[in-house]
Amino acid sequence: MGLHMIQGVKIPEDFNLPQRACSAHIEQDALLFDKALETIKKHNVFLIAHYYTSDIMQRLAEASGGFIGDSLEMARAGRDSSCDTIAVAGVRFMGETAKILSPHKTIIMPDLSAECSLDLCCDIEDLKRVKAEHKNAVLVSYANTSAQVKAISDWVVTSSLAVELADYLKKIGKDILWVPDKNLGSYIANSANVDIYCWPGKCIVHDAFLGNSLKYMKDEHKQAKVLVHPESPSDVIELADFVGSTSQILNYVKASNASEFIIATERNIFYKIKQACPEKVLYQAPIASNQGQCISCANCPWMELNSLEKLIKAIENPLDFCINIEQNVCNEAVKPLNRMLNFSALLKSGKELPLDL
Ligand code: SF4
Repeated sequence: MGLHMIQGVKIPEDFNLPQRACSAHIEQDALLFDKALETIKKHNVFLIAHYYTSDIMQRLAEASGGFIGDSLEMARAGRDSSCDTIAVAGVRFMGETAKILSPHKTIIMPDLSAECSLDLCCDIEDLKRVKAEHKNAVLVSYANTSAQVKAISDWVVTSSLAVELADYLKKIGKDILWVPDKNLGSYIANSANVDIYCWPGKCIVHDAFLGNSLKYMKDEHKQAKVLVHPESPSDVIELADFVGSTSQILNYVKASNASEFIIATERNIFYKIKQACPEKVLYQAPIASNQGQCISCANCPWMELNSLEKLIKAIENPLDFCINIEQNVCNEAVKPLNRMLNFSALLKSGKELPLDL
């Protein structure tokens, strides 16, 4: 049992990151709050924002009666909304997932060039070749992948369900071909003690958390609980009191008796944590730097592309900002997504899982 890293696939060395938002831009965006709210209401749009978008975008989602959540929760909320137009503030795979689950709705995004390094690490032609070389394994794709990748996958899964799914697949005697996150793949292999053929992709934000520096931080804040997202490197995960998805980290802080937390995930989750637990003290886990420059500052540069200014423009010009997916890709991609939703519902119900899901 263990981790088998896949060799010979294309992983970008440099992700061509977008320019960071400057403070003037952020201030200007804040001035557009009322206009954005009015535009959402006028056009009857349902706004769903990821936890990693800016505070102001999350506040707008709340004020407009929209939704804030992780990628799966977002897609579910979009599907269940009575609005015909859904605005997704997040990155492209999130918009695509919303479209796959709601093919008849118009899904718009403030910036269609908002990428995710994990999605960019998973070239579809490479994946078709590797899949053909691992015929006996089931292809399990992380939600952070393109519609095309989902369309050829047996399962799609979020970080909150990944270990449970690996346990299930082990029980029914299946090996796993896992794409695209190497750190999450390694975490799943260790937690579920399964054989995983693992794609070597990474999230540029979570992969930059540093185990060595985290040890020093733990020593300085001995009372603090360390909460880590499983896209982080294994030496960071080893230091964790709790490993979980962004939603699970939020819920952990809410339920915990502890008063201090060191958190290794995207820093915009602090908005929801502080809102729920204003008395608790939060520390951002240390991040690697390159030649004196912080690599991500625990802040996703693509999420930052979701400004209110662009959102207003997208709502007023939906045809220029909508997600389109080929019908056959949509038809195939919805199958593993529905499988995951079904799996998630069965787990929650506490019923025994059938062996033929
Ligand atoms: S934080 Fe990482 S996984 Fe999330 S969208 Fe950004 S690059 Fe992708």
